[in-house]
Amino acid sequence: MTMIGGRPLCYRVRKSRRARKLHLSVSKREGVLVTLPQRVGYAAVPALLAEHADWLDAKADEFDVRMGPRVRQYGRGSEILVFGVPRRMEVRALPAGRSRPRFELAGEALTVALPPDQVLDPRPALERYLRRLAREDLPGRVTRWAGRAGLQPARVIIGERTTRWGSCSARGTISLCYRLVMAPPEVIDAVVAHEVCHLAHLDHSERFYHLLDRLCPWHRESRRWLNEHHEELIL
Ligand SMILES: [Zn+2]
Repeated sequence: MTMIGGRPLCYRVRKSRRARKLHLSVSKREGVLVTLPQRVGYAAVPALLAEHADWLDAKADEFDVRMGPRVRQYGRGSEILVFGVPRRMEVRALPAGRSRPRFELAGEALTVALPPDQVLDPRPALERYLRRLAREDLPGRVTRWAGRAGLQPARVIIGERTTRWGSCSARGTISLCYRLVMAPPEVIDAVVAHEVCHLAHLDHSERFYHLLDRLCPWHRESRRWLNEHHEELIL
């Protein structure tokens, strides 16, 4: 913790092998984060914070992370989006002797039964559940949209920790973020259609958008939806 503008500010420091210089970031998910290259010592941190005090002060308030990242709490009655619909979560402990988490999606309720030691933090189990949904749902969607465009992906990967919703490689591999299954189906479709169009054009050229406009006329609204709701799609 440090003091900025007379008020406390919590921050975390992370060493990174890949970082080449000191880096400051502020986000809802990670709060105030200082990234240091391996060779730089922790002693460099206070000066960096002081140098960017005004910016940090404003950003920490903007994201409301002065006291650390905003961690979502999951438990009885909290809500989670699945296919764009807020589902009320009902978390229960599995009976003794059972250890396999169970998830049941019925209308606007998601019933989660977990081993007792996971009930307090259902997040890892939720993540596994969403990944499973993504593996069941997304590859078929890619096949459908590729078929409409007369294109063929080489492979579909459900992303591990991608910071983007989707990507497409020059070899024709489409990667999608598993958290997409939290978005409404038409938004998922727009992301899939976008990546499918990259099978024909690897850039964001006019030809690319011409194809995407034809294939999925609502892709701009979907992009807007994602920008406005991305916080709700974080676990
Ligand atoms: Zn793109």
